[in-house]
Amino acid sequence: MQAIKKDIRALTKEQLRTFFEAHGDKAFRGNQVYEWLWGKAAHSFDEMTNISKETRQMLEDNFVINNIRVDQMQRSNDGTIKNAVRLHDDLIVESVLIPTPTRTTACVSSQVGCSLDCKFCATAKLKRMRNLNPDEIYDQVVAIDNESRLYFDRPLSNIVFMGMGEPLMNYNNVLAAIDKITSPEGLGMSPRRITVSTSGVPKMIKKMADTEVKFKLAVSLHSAIDEVRTSIMPFNATFPLADLREALEYWYGKTKSRITYEYVVWKGINDTRNDVDALVKFCKFAPSKVNLIEYNPIGDEVFKQADNRAIEMYQQILERNGITVTVRRSRGKDIDAACGQLANKS
Ligand code: SAH
Repeated sequence: MQAIKKDIRALTKEQLRTFFEAHGDKAFRGNQVYEWLWGKAAHSFDEMTNISKETRQMLEDNFVINNIRVDQMQRSNDGTIKNAVRLHDDLIVESVLIPTPTRTTACVSSQVGCSLDCKFCATAKLKRMRNLNPDEIYDQVVAIDNESRLYFDRPLSNIVFMGMGEPLMNYNNVLAAIDKITSPEGLGMSPRRITVSTSGVPKMIKKMADTEVKFKLAVSLHSAIDEVRTSIMPFNATFPLADLREALEYWYGKTKSRITYEYVVWKGINDTRNDVDALVKFCKFAPSKVNLIEYNPIGDEVFKQADNRAIEMYQQILERNGITVTVRRSRGKDIDAACGQLANKS
């Protein structure tokens, strides 16, 4: 029987150094291999040209490199690219490259499917779920960085954790991936260019604050009224707005980093003056801004984008109260690459 080989990228640099020492080699070899695995994102041991053939064979005998594979790449009329990414166990997640004249943003997944059940999100309809490993998250970023260089002649500039999954339900792996993305041995990106988006898990928001992370936080709020929020995001019954609010105040106290609220306005759900007033009140607990997102239909009749009049009302009242508000138009809609549309349909 053949032993199951371990994924070499589950090892820390220290563990790699120890492995080489235990095999009668120099610990430094561990640094070289680590550099190949992360800095150069090698897909095979054969690429490691400064490592001897025998050592490469020894690695081959002991480990695998579970790289992701971009199975299918779709390009939208607006330049957006969606990757269907095949994992080593044949599950698929999606990630998106969003170009603008000044930046390229990668929207990456943190789970296969999602732990939550937001009624308006296509990903929530997927049954199967597992967490992505740090290297599977990192690889999505590397793939998009390569595409950005190839198609837009510039490196990736920003990352948002707004693909499939709830990042804070896969906290350790998301943080480990961000560590690699920001470390000089990985991609060396500034954490200020990374945004983690969450539906709002209070305990984890506090934990992030305690860790004094340097990336930005976005919260998918969609309503500041418990009854309404629970009807569209049922887990709000477990993590009600009062707890979320307390965690966000804690976050701001520790990090002094402004929070972005993502918010879709739907017809007949959250399009009244009462809804706006509740949002204004919620925004005053900690410095924040509101991102009004266009709704991307997922093929059911319940959710419909509110009229422009309702969106303008939101904009005016928020601004009148000194709250920064942006209205974000969807990108990549024609290839189901927009927010909430990722569901492995390609
Ligand atoms: N679980 C995380 C990240 C994934 S969702 C979170 O909830 O933040 C990324 C963003 O897309 C969230 O703000 C989510 O509320 C929003 N979204 C989900 N479905 C959508 C849809 N059909 N149209 C527009 N935005 C949607």
